[in-house]
Amino acid sequence: MSCSLCRLPFTPSSHSVDPRWPPPGVLSEKQVLYMKHAFGMGQHVFGLAVDLVNMDNNNFTINNSNMIINIIWETNGTTFIALHPHCATILRHHLGLSENSPDNLIELSLLEQIVGPPMDGVHAGRLPDFKYEDVLGAAGAHNRVDIEALWSKRGELPDFDWLEWKRRNLDWTAVRPDVFPRFRPQVAPTRISSLGPLPEPTEDVITTQPLDVLHVLLPYLDNRSFVNILSTCRTLRRHALTIFQAQARTRVLELGWAVPTSVEYAGFVKRNPPPPAATSPTSPTTPTSPAAGDKPGEAASSDGSAPTEPSTEAADFSLVAMAHAKHSPINADWYLYLSQVHRTPAMRARRWVWALAEELWRVYGEKRAAGPYADEVDAEGQRTKSRKWKAYAKHVDQQLMMRGAMFGKHKSAKPMTW
Ligand SMILES: [Zn+2]
Repeated sequence: MSCSLCRLPFTPSSHSVDPRWPPPGVLSEKQVLYMKHAFGMGQHVFGLAVDLVNMDNNNFTINNSNMIINIIWETNGTTFIALHPHCATILRHHLGLSENSPDNLIELSLLEQIVGPPMDGVHAGRLPDFKYEDVLGAAGAHNRVDIEALWSKRGELPDFDWLEWKRRNLDWTAVRPDVFPRFRPQVAPTRISSLGPLPEPTEDVITTQPLDVLHVLLPYLDNRSFVNILSTCRTLRRHALTIFQAQARTRVLELGWAVPTSVEYAGFVKRNPPPPAATSPTSPTTPTSPAAGDKPGEAASSDGSAPTEPSTEAADFSLVAMAHAKHSPINADWYLYLSQVHRTPAMRARRWVWALAEELWRVYGEKRAAGPYADEVDAEGQRTKSRKWKAYAKHVDQQLMMRGAMFGKHKSAKPMTW
C-alpha cells in the first residue's frame, strides 16, 4: 500500500495481523512508527477524508474514531487516494483545501475522480497522467527520482524493494519533510562579535566596491553563489549578517518550500507558544522539529477542527523559532537559514514532495476545469459549484454526516488510536 503522491509505501501497524515489515535497519524505528499513518480520501471512504493507519494486506483502519472501521484500499480495479500525513499537508496547501470544512472534505473526496482513478496491480495507488519521476529532472537528469521502479508484485500484493531503494541512495526520500532548520529571529550576537573588528582597509576587488554595487550585483547570483560569496571574508560576512539579511529573506520566501505552510506554522506555535510581547526578547531554544514519535502533523486531523492561529493576542510572534513571511523580523538570521535549507535531508525531501504537490495541483487544475466539476461562472464573474458537483455533494451527504458519530465526543465511546 503506497502513497499516491510520493509513491513510497506505508509501514504496517503493530496491530496488523499479518504485517510485512521493511527489512531491519532500512528505516529508523521512528520512521516505521510514523509511516504507518495515512490520510485517505474518496467517495467510499467513511467520513470522506480521514486519518488512517495501515493494517497491511490491503486494509486501512480509521484512526481516533469512536468506531472500529476497516477500509479496503484496492478494489474493483482501483484504490482510493491515501497519502502520508506530510504529503497530505503539503498537497492540501497547494490545493487550497487545508481546512476541514464540508466543502473541502467533499472536494478532497472528489480528487480520485478528477485526477484519477488511481491504478491497480503493481502500480496500485499511482495516478494516471502525472509524471511523478520528472518533477525534479526529466529522463537522464541526475536528480530524477524514480520510486515506481521499486514496486513489483509478490503473490497478490504489490511489494516494495526496500533494499534496492537503500542501495540507490534514495533514503532521503523517507525523511520527514516537516523538520525545518532552526530559525533564529535574531542574529546571535556571537556570530557578529566572532568576526572581530572590521578589517581596514580592504584591498580586494569585491569588498572595495561601494555597497550600492553589491546591492545591484547580488540579485543576479543563484542562492548557492549568494551564500558562498558572502562567506568569503569577514567584511562580507558582516554585511551578510546585517544589511543583506533582507535579500536573504526574499530568497528564502521565493523558494516556497523553505518555509512552513500555515498549518505547519500553526502546529509549531501550538507546541511552542511564543512568549508574551512584554517580556524581554530572548531567542527561543526549542528545535523546530514537529511533534516527536509517530504522531503525524496536525494538518490531517479528522476531528473537524480547522487549524487556527493561537488566540493569545499578546504573544510576540516575532520570536517564534520558525520562519514566517509576516511574523519573522526582516533582520532575523535569514542568511544562516538560507544556507541551511539547502543542506538538510529533510529539506531535500521537502523540496521533492513540494514539487510533486505542485505538479499534481497543475494536473488537478487542468482536469477539473475541463470536466463536469468545474465551477460555473455567471456574467458577473461569480463562481458557483456546478450541478454535477452539487449532485455529488448530495450523494455523499451521509458519508459526511458519519463524521459526527466517528469523531464526535461521546460519553460511552472512547476513540481508538492505532
Ligand atoms: Zn507520501
